[in-house]
Amino acid sequence: MGALFATEGINGQVIVYSRYCPFKPIKIAVIGAGNVGASTAYSLMLDGLAAEIVIIDVNHAKAEGEAMDITHAVPLSPSGQTRVYAGGYRDLYDAAVVVVTAGVNQKPGQTRLDLVHANAAIYRTIIPEVAHHAPRTVLLIATNPVDVCTYLAYKLSGFPAHRVLGSGTVLDSARLQTELGAMFDVNPASVHAFVVGEHGDSEVVPWSLASIQGMRLPEFCRGADLPYDADALRAAAARTRTAAYEIIKRKGATDFAIAAALTSIVRAVVRSEDSLLTVSRVGSYAGVDDVCLSVPARVNSKGARTISTLVLEPDEEEALRNSALRIKEAIESLGDLLQT
Ligand code: NAD
Repeated sequence: MGALFATEGINGQVIVYSRYCPFKPIKIAVIGAGNVGASTAYSLMLDGLAAEIVIIDVNHAKAEGEAMDITHAVPLSPSGQTRVYAGGYRDLYDAAVVVVTAGVNQKPGQTRLDLVHANAAIYRTIIPEVAHHAPRTVLLIATNPVDVCTYLAYKLSGFPAHRVLGSGTVLDSARLQTELGAMFDVNPASVHAFVVGEHGDSEVVPWSLASIQGMRLPEFCRGADLPYDADALRAAAARTRTAAYEIIKRKGATDFAIAAALTSIVRAVVRSEDSLLTVSRVGSYAGVDDVCLSVPARVNSKGARTISTLVLEPDEEEALRNSALRIKEAIESLGDLLQT
């Protein structure tokens, strides 16, 4: 089914209604037209989620080029009809979701936390504009270090915590599912396992909560007559954690999987799915207050809220606490940049 539900001419304008919401034309904004922003706008268009996608970049010509290129794919796409264009902050006024991908990316060997000061300075120019022009939108942050940038966006926007989401470990969880799906020879979507904490080097895999077929991994292995190989699982977690470094070493950036992760989060908001996703949000975790990291949260049109505290093994709780403290330290290093 295409995205087009109804059109009507108002002052010569054609309004296209999303296939997910036939009563209201949905607009999504993507700020930053680089690798991540362009791939995300393309993925959103293919998904048919929105009637309009506006792309904003300090390099307006780049935003225009990406919008033109994506527009030429619309007639060839299953989404049917989406208006994709380069715009400015004034275009945000009715955006359901604003996805922020603007900022510098990692160079080979750099960690995500190395980007914190450069991207904080960029956020100080972007987030107040978004808050001014789209005061009721859901903000979705992708810029790295994503947990720190999500915290900063929360502070600079003045939005309630549930309306400021980071892509967090949604991507890392998909990478882990991919690893485990290959290891156990099942579709990755049938593996219930996720990553919590920082989207970065201190991220944590809570193995005690991982399951296949409703069974924890040791029981699943026993039932399947497979050896339970803790070393192989640790190696899978390490490959999950270092995947971005390996991809950046080879192609200079990561973009397709993060675009799919952002699209899945936008979809959960626009369709008010109540899906449990490991988005990053501000809260108290593992005894650390006023920090931002990922645990499963319910995502719907109002944003994201955690609905139940994770019950972890003591070593997992300790690892989550260390991750929270590391993010907290990076947040505190911003000093005056946090002031509105
Ligand atoms: P890129 O350099 O290709 O694109 C960044 C874009 O931001 C550029 O087009 C630039 O012009 C734009 N920009 C810079 N300052 C701006 C401003 N003030 N206003 C508007 N636009 C501005 O980088 P990329 O590869 O697209 O990565 C973007 C960010 O996403 C990086 O921080 C990267 O680390 C992050 N990222 C996050 C994840 C995740 O899982 N959250 C995954 C991949 C990349």
